[in-house]
Amino acid sequence: MNPKYPERIRIAHLPTPIEPMERLSRHLEGPELFIKRDDLTGLATGGNKTRKLEFLVAEALAQGCDHLVTTGASQSNHCRQTAAAAAKFGLGCTIVLSGQAPPLTTGNILIDKLLGAQIHWAGDQPRSEAMAEVTAALQANGRTPYPIPLGGSNVLGATGYVLAMQELMAQLQAEQITPDFIVFASSSGGTQAGIVLGAEIYGYDGQVLGISVDHPADAVQTQVAALATATATHLGLGQLSVADRVVVNDDYLGGGYAIVGETEREAINLVAQMEGVLLDPVYTGRAMGGLIDLIRWGAITRGQTVLFWHTGGTAALPAFTDKLI
Ligand SMILES: *Cc1c(COP(=O)(O)O)cnc(C)c1O
Repeated sequence: MNPKYPERIRIAHLPTPIEPMERLSRHLEGPELFIKRDDLTGLATGGNKTRKLEFLVAEALAQGCDHLVTTGASQSNHCRQTAAAAAKFGLGCTIVLSGQAPPLTTGNILIDKLLGAQIHWAGDQPRSEAMAEVTAALQANGRTPYPIPLGGSNVLGATGYVLAMQELMAQLQAEQITPDFIVFASSSGGTQAGIVLGAEIYGYDGQVLGISVDHPADAVQTQVAALATATATHLGLGQLSVADRVVVNDDYLGGGYAIVGETEREAINLVAQMEGVLLDPVYTGRAMGGLIDLIRWGAITRGQTVLFWHTGGTAALPAFTDKLI
């Protein structure tokens, strides 16, 4: 299979490193653990959206757009990385965030402002509706906006993670690592869609396991499978179904999206103190908490190998201070 990749700008620091987590593995008396550091992609504190934006911003520039518009939760890592990409390419940027401005401007919101993004608070309006209005208003003012969907999760965004699987497989081969599982946080589905399609294209034999941070597993599964299929077509691979590779676990939703509980608090403190690696309160803290639990009850065992894909988000930590320590 030979995917035809669309045009791409180069903004991510690639390849991101893979590191062993020896102390954490020993502490859990569990599988051999490795971590793929996409928190180090480099775009104003990095994260998984940077790989997606390499393809999305390339299209925006090719279309002659002068403004990026996107949407997310108030501590959105995707919006912050989009604002950074816009700054780097001299584009305007408007981000539509859920709810009202919080009393304290911290974490990703502080960075959004430093990067010069215009923030539009959606209030009670659905985000997608607010984003459509903001986009229309920019057009009425003579701008040429490029709308990017929630999480950058369309075929172009997912393509960033197809390419990331090519990168990963080359690293695994060079370092002689054969993970039984690749585990990461899944939400809008672009990351998982790219990883499962890349797994199919580049011949990864293990299991790809997305830990849902907000939606029921069947909803994420449906979304990911559809996006992976559409991405395959977009890359010139015809009809390729990867539905049977799409596995989502929703056992760790806790109090819901961005509600930090004991699962996240323990995982974040443990990984920080065992490995010197920061996780984030919304995504990777929950996914790692889930992985730790799966190891503790024996779903993943000693003798197996796990690659945890760190998708970033540490810029949100200061917004959750009182929940974490
Ligand atoms: C957006 C995000 C995810 C989820 O990626 P999707 O492609 O939306 O599923 C995971 N981790 C972090 C830190 C994120 O910002």
